[in-house]
Amino acid sequence: MRMSLRDLLTCHWSALRIQRYLDADPCAPLPPEEVARLEAHLAVCERCQQLTAEHQALRGALSSWSAAVDEDSLARLRGVVDELSRQDRP
Ligand SMILES: [Zn+2]
Repeated sequence: MRMSLRDLLTCHWSALRIQRYLDADPCAPLPPEEVARLEAHLAVCERCQQLTAEHQALRGALSSWSAAVDEDSLARLRGVVDELSRQDRP
């Protein structure tokens, strides 16, 4: 599939929001119009679907560890994951 510049920009925009979208963090919620835009893009974009699946797999791994790991270790681990995902950002 050939992508237009507009598609690429939407992908970039979406990639920056997928983690927040999945977290549904009450401290930093996505505005409803951004959720709608992101969901519309995810419905048509394989690249971002893949990215979402990766985030979900990572979250699944983290939550299954959290049963066995104490809170402090988990907080540190989350910090590492946040740091890694920030490195992709401008
Ligand atoms: Zn995309």
